[in-house]
Amino acid sequence: MSDTRKDAKHNAAMKKQKAKVDAHIEAADLERGVAVLLTGNGKGKSSSAFGMVMRALGYGQKVGVVQFIKGEQLSGEEIYLKERCPEVAFFQMGTGFTWNTQDRSGDIEAAIATWERALPMLRDPEFDLVVLDELTYMIAYDYLDADAIIDAIRSRPPNQSVVVTGRGGGSALQEVMDTVSEVKEIKHAFKEGIKARKGVDY
Ligand code: ATP
Ligand code: MG
Repeated sequence: MSDTRKDAKHNAAMKKQKAKVDAHIEAADLERGVAVLLTGNGKGKSSSAFGMVMRALGYGQKVGVVQFIKGEQLSGEEIYLKERCPEVAFFQMGTGFTWNTQDRSGDIEAAIATWERALPMLRDPEFDLVVLDELTYMIAYDYLDADAIIDAIRSRPPNQSVVVTGRGGGSALQEVMDTVSEVKEIKHAFKEGIKARKGVDY
């Protein structure tokens, strides 16, 4: 195919694409917060959530982050938010949590205490964005009540956006979310023996 024909074909395709996007923009007239679920077995769920934290902060929005993971491994996002962004409400489940089946009741207690930090954020219209990182595992392990979580997400202030990350979570959770993305693993460096990398993996 000649370059001129390639150009013409490309232009036609772009025109078609633009018409499609414009129609969607036209049709999208609801102005409210969105509930986003980032799931799947590939890398990129939490880092995507923290990308949205950065976006929201760029507009001076009020952000809350609650991480449902044990706090042994420091992460760049934790260091940055705690040290440089005192305006962000940050809470991590921390060392009280073990994933230890011998201490199931202790873990449940830690999960509930962490949820009790998230709940007031989900009820506070001051918060523009609330990230509930790795929350799905609390549902999968039955540490937290899925219905209570779904109800809190559904009844949050209309202008608040919420981002939930983690594999699984169940179809009822997917249903209440407006955007659900599955990050699919094609490859992961770890499987090639490359160590988890500061600034990339944690
Ligand atoms: P990230 O925080 O990098 O966005 P994630 O939130 O999608 O990752 P998690 O399941 O929370 O994934 O795991 C966090 C850590 O595990 C990261 O260090 C990430 O690189 C690593 N990881 C994620 N997916 C995989 C995978 N499929 N195989 C091996 N390691 C993974
Ligand atoms: Mg994650």
